[in-house]
Amino acid sequence: MHNKIAHTAEHAFIGSLQKLMGQTLNVRKVEHREADNSVFILTPHLELESIIKAQSDVNFLISMGRKVITHSFVSLIEAEKHFPRLRSNVERIKKESDSIRVIEIEDHDVAACAMEHACNLSECDFFLVKGISKNVSEYEINFVVGKQAKETAIVASLKLLNICNKLGANFNTVENTIGKLKADNEIYHSKLKTLTKEKLESITPSTSKHNKITIVQGIFSGLIDSEIRSFAGEKIAEHNTIVIICNMNHEPNDTVVNIVFARNESLVYIDCNKIFKDIAGNDGRGGGTPHFVTGIVNREKATGIVRNIVDAVDNH
Ligand SMILES: [Zn+2]
Repeated sequence: MHNKIAHTAEHAFIGSLQKLMGQTLNVRKVEHREADNSVFILTPHLELESIIKAQSDVNFLISMGRKVITHSFVSLIEAEKHFPRLRSNVERIKKESDSIRVIEIEDHDVAACAMEHACNLSECDFFLVKGISKNVSEYEINFVVGKQAKETAIVASLKLLNICNKLGANFNTVENTIGKLKADNEIYHSKLKTLTKEKLESITPSTSKHNKITIVQGIFSGLIDSEIRSFAGEKIAEHNTIVIICNMNHEPNDTVVNIVFARNESLVYIDCNKIFKDIAGNDGRGGGTPHFVTGIVNREKATGIVRNIVDAVDNH
């Protein structure tokens, strides 16, 4: 769907961005959909600050009622002679068979374009950037105009107020509050990582009765699962060793716990994957290789499953 109001706002937005960045931007394509629009810009880096400033500039130009003027030229070369800094998109202008149309936003931007445009920027009413995403060296800027932009602004305000309410943050300082929470989270994660290592390293290994295998086992709660997997990977480098560790999460409604079951490569007769599946049955899910298995098991059955795996290993 071609929305000439949204499309004209896109011209103004790219014109503003170009001024802020001091360079001509390569717009690969523009999409106008029923609910929103996207402009795809080929550039390795686009500052959020520039996007926000360009958004303000576009709304200022809308409020000033800048004229949108259409010029016609016999060729792109002629157009470029008249407008040396002309922005052109070959895909968009090649559809025009013999003449080139140049769209000028008064004292702001000129671009060769064959699509339909508004006569005045005031028709756009309000311009709002709704989302920004990056794929390799292409940015997609999602935007809305007019009534849709106003509705999006109301939704965005509601979301922000809800965020402030949930965080107990002030509207003016919410970004700082989030920054502090993020920093605190990193500190807590680092502390939990240290605690996880200490807990795992404090396990006293046992020796199986019959085949004298070193068994490193434990059932914990609230540790970091990725650290447990790393620990198991390091521990099974030791000769004649198996590792069986369960970790419960702290969520009260969690009905499953994570499990890691792994063995040293010398214990070729122990197939961890088969033993785990045989013993856990319908009370577990997961798998892996004959020497390293990860999965989940029923929380209430975890102790019994670990015990049965140890017995199975010992009776091989
Ligand atoms: Zn256009």
